[in-house]
Amino acid sequence: MMTNPDEFRIKDLHSIISNKISENLRLLLETKHLYQSLSIDWHPIVDQAKLEQEQIKKEAQKAIAAMMASGSSRILMGQQTEHNDDMESYVMKQLLYFIRAPWEFMQCKDRRPPSPLPGKKMFEAVINLPTIKLFCNNCERKEPYKPVYGEDALPHFCQHPDYLYETDNTEQIFVLSYQCQSCDSKPEIFLVRRFIDKLTIAGRSMIEHVEVPKVIPKEVAKYWSNAIVAFQSGQVLAGLFFLRVLIEQQGQIVSKGQSLKGDKAIEFYMSTLLDEVKEKFPSFVKIYEELSYAIHTADENEKLFYSCLDDIEAHYQAKQLYYNLEKKKKPKGI
Ligand SMILES: [Zn+2]
Repeated sequence: MMTNPDEFRIKDLHSIISNKISENLRLLLETKHLYQSLSIDWHPIVDQAKLEQEQIKKEAQKAIAAMMASGSSRILMGQQTEHNDDMESYVMKQLLYFIRAPWEFMQCKDRRPPSPLPGKKMFEAVINLPTIKLFCNNCERKEPYKPVYGEDALPHFCQHPDYLYETDNTEQIFVLSYQCQSCDSKPEIFLVRRFIDKLTIAGRSMIEHVEVPKVIPKEVAKYWSNAIVAFQSGQVLAGLFFLRVLIEQQGQIVSKGQSLKGDKAIEFYMSTLLDEVKEKFPSFVKIYEELSYAIHTADENEKLFYSCLDDIEAHYQAKQLYYNLEKKKKPKGI
């Protein structure tokens, strides 16, 4: 029996589209933070289809020219052109299929609970959940995580879920479970909201790991990572606040026992440093003032957040460098 060329193309195109969704899920989980989104860019698939269309046209024209030269039928020309011109609209139709259809995950097809839509026959796009790389707290490094489970939770929380798939605004909320391939420790759970072809990280447990530069003292490292998590979740003011807490706490650690208030404690801390560090590198007094002003005026200043991160890291780097050069013992509590 001969293979139907259209069937073959459908199978092929479906796997290209499905892989594209899978790749975007990987990008989302590996590179985006809480409440951040990405929209799938379909242009490469459409562009590829156009290229293939051009290629087929050229080959067909060559074949037709050769056949005409040998006196064969002209009917073929009309048939061939019509077939090829369909390619782009055919690709668009298949893309729309995937954009409108509910997605389900290949790994979990046999494990999912009974369908919340009994008796409803509909097209479901089957997606392969990707393997992703995440920081594993148990292994203390980035490791590949395998997908364990993935399901659309939304139908379970609706009284009449049928309407979810009856519009062009398909919405799903996936619960995805991933486990470290090296240690099989507790899984990481993601909540991913899908609206048509936009994907958003709507929740995760555990909270994302933030790598803190080695020069940041461990006593204040948690304020650094809290600042990054807050900022990456869209809470710029909270990010600025945590950086201010970091500086304030640095002052309090060094001036311990003197009951100094915020700015006085920081001034005291600065007075304990080597002159080279005080004079040539970012001052904590200045950074504290800038952060305080932004917080008091509710200025969600992203540029300031980045510059303060750089300045705080540069301050600690300089301190480490100069104390090593001078072979001097660091003041207590730093
Ligand atoms: Zn691990």
